[in-house]
Amino acid sequence: MLNSFLIARLAAMFPSYRSLFVFDVRCWAFDVQCSSKECILSGISGSGLYILDSYAKEEKPIKIRVIGWWGAYPGPGEATSCYLLQSGGLNILLDCGSGVLGALQAYIDLEKIDAVVLSHYHADHVADLGCLQYATRVLMDLGKREKPLAVYGHAEDHHFTDLDYHDFSKGYAIDVDTHLVLGDTAFTFWRNVHPDPCFSMRIEKNKRVLTYISDTQWDDGLVEAACDADLLICESSLYNEYKGVVGGHLAAGEAGLIAEKAGAAHLVLSHLPHFGNHQDLARQAAEVFRGPVELAATGKNWEL
Ligand SMILES: [Zn+2]
Ligand SMILES: [Zn+2]
Repeated sequence: MLNSFLIARLAAMFPSYRSLFVFDVRCWAFDVQCSSKECILSGISGSGLYILDSYAKEEKPIKIRVIGWWGAYPGPGEATSCYLLQSGGLNILLDCGSGVLGALQAYIDLEKIDAVVLSHYHADHVADLGCLQYATRVLMDLGKREKPLAVYGHAEDHHFTDLDYHDFSKGYAIDVDTHLVLGDTAFTFWRNVHPDPCFSMRIEKNKRVLTYISDTQWDDGLVEAACDADLLICESSLYNEYKGVVGGHLAAGEAGLIAEKAGAAHLVLSHLPHFGNHQDLARQAAEVFRGPVELAATGKNWEL
């Protein structure tokens, strides 16, 4: 029979589990057919006891990887804005800029991309979407993929129609009122201040928060978008000296100030410029943000 000592020992054997369901099955013929991928049966040899952990298993984290981080155009062999979000079994691109498809395949096969969520339609955020749509067509024709690509973007100008591509790609509109759920991950959107409509994203799962602030100049609403974020990826197109000189973008110190005001845990600067010393951007952000600051780089990844 189970007692508290045995239960404590069993719990210690499975430290990643938040709770255990322990069944004394004794001499039952025990055969489990789990329909859920999360269902795990662990045998304890000789004891006749089994631990069945179905929905209590610790949730898998959000994984986020930088695919492209340059602003405007890519550096040699690299890419502009794109981040691979992996959560709940889905593979989702946040933006799909220039050079992305080549860089992306170092980390994942293209047929595994389920969806793309776009901040806006400037070329450094969407340039490779057309090729991803072509890839989807080829891969569906080859029988390597079944589902069309889902693409989410705002519908405030004619670019929205480009998200549909025959039966291979389907566009879905987002705006600040949208509560988008992809798998087990929720997206909400904040309007940026940029020459064309553009949205930042707050992405949540199990009280873990990733905020992606795309092209924008300062707006107080961005602090709310990043409130208590575990990770804030923020555009940092400008050195502080250029703040206000170039509209529609944030200076590094402003990215740091958003992170500080929002109480973010970790700041990553991205959408970086093609001049100067990028380490100066990190220093300028760190002058106002007390948490860790780092620069985006191809392949860098985090788990939340
Ligand atoms: Zn832009
Ligand atoms: Zn941009």
